[in-house]
Amino acid sequence: MVSIQAQKSIIQTNCPLCGEKETIFLSKDELDYARSNHALITKAISHTNNGHVLTLYIDGEGIVRRKYCFEIAEKKDLNRNIPLPTKLDLVFDQMLKDSLNSR
Ligand SMILES: [Zn+2]
Repeated sequence: MVSIQAQKSIIQTNCPLCGEKETIFLSKDELDYARSNHALITKAISHTNNGHVLTLYIDGEGIVRRKYCFEIAEKKDLNRNIPLPTKLDLVFDQMLKDSLNSR
């Protein structure tokens, strides 16, 4: 097996939300692990001043595959996020009712 000498371990990217430039350092171990397990390296960078956290998913070749921005949840925001599981609960409820009705 040929070893790759020029391993990409420094990644530069910008935040899709606030445009801030970020430099991410990846260790050889992280890249090796991601490559051999077909896993993605997750890096979270807090842009607290801008109210969000930038999360990067990087593959074993050092390529940024996904970028997500998470809003920093405050208590009132948490309340606003509750409807999602509630909607799912309703869906399950309906599925349950439907399966009972079809008997
Ligand atoms: Zn940002």
